Amino acid sequence: MSIADNISNLKKETVPMGVALLAVSKTKPVADLQRAYDAGQRLFGENTVQELVEKQEQLPKDIEWHLIGHLQTNKVKYIAPFISMIQSVDSLKLLQEINKHAAKNNRIIDCLLQIYIADEETKYGLGFDEAIEILRSEEFTTLKNIRIRGLMGIATNTDSEKQIKEEYYELKTFFDGVKVSFFRKEPSFNILSMGMSSDYKIAIAQGSNMIRLGSTIFGSRPKKTT
Ligand SMILES: *Cc1c(COP(=O)(O)O)cnc(C)c1O
Repeated sequence: MSIADNISNLKKETVPMGVALLAVSKTKPVADLQRAYDAGQRLFGENTVQELVEKQEQLPKDIEWHLIGHLQTNKVKYIAPFISMIQSVDSLKLLQEINKHAAKNNRIIDCLLQIYIADEETKYGLGFDEAIEILRSEEFTTLKNIRIRGLMGIATNTDSEKQIKEEYYELKTFFDGVKVSFFRKEPSFNILSMGMSSDYKIAIAQGSNMIRLGSTIFGSRPKKTT
């Protein structure tokens, strides 16, 4: 099936449920992104700053770009002028740096805190306690040019549906708790980004309202060697 067909089928599935579809276009050529765009897709996710910047320059300006990969503080400046959302915030230091560059660009940048839920050592993210620590901190309350819109999580890469379900359930429970404790008066804290091609149905059943799909839309990627 074509990229356009994939988008249209996924929209039929997700729109009625109020689930946003982020097209994860990493490693894919600009022509593929343009096809998705022409099919009506506007939310795109990339996992490296370099690819994000290169593609942003070549594609229509009404695309909402999300960064979903680990962000080094020294690279924030390259995306601060245009990024719609940084889903991979995993430290207070990074949040401070995003705030600084958002201010320089006269913007408020939407962010998600990336929460570590997987049973794997390689994944970035904050533990539940670390996220709470940031939200409680004095420094956090001084950051006026970032807005925390919600949480993002990546489940373990496993065949065990039970395990994936439990990880997403825990993140949803944590999300609800954080909302009540820290964002009661901020309706904009409303995004729970969980679910990739292999597990998005489980994620939606557990309360995700934003799924990040790459291979389901664009076809499989060559295996990473790094
Ligand atoms: C690559 C990636 C995805 C999409 O992966 P697929 O399996 O191709 O859907 C989603 N989220 C993050 C953080 C990713 O890095």
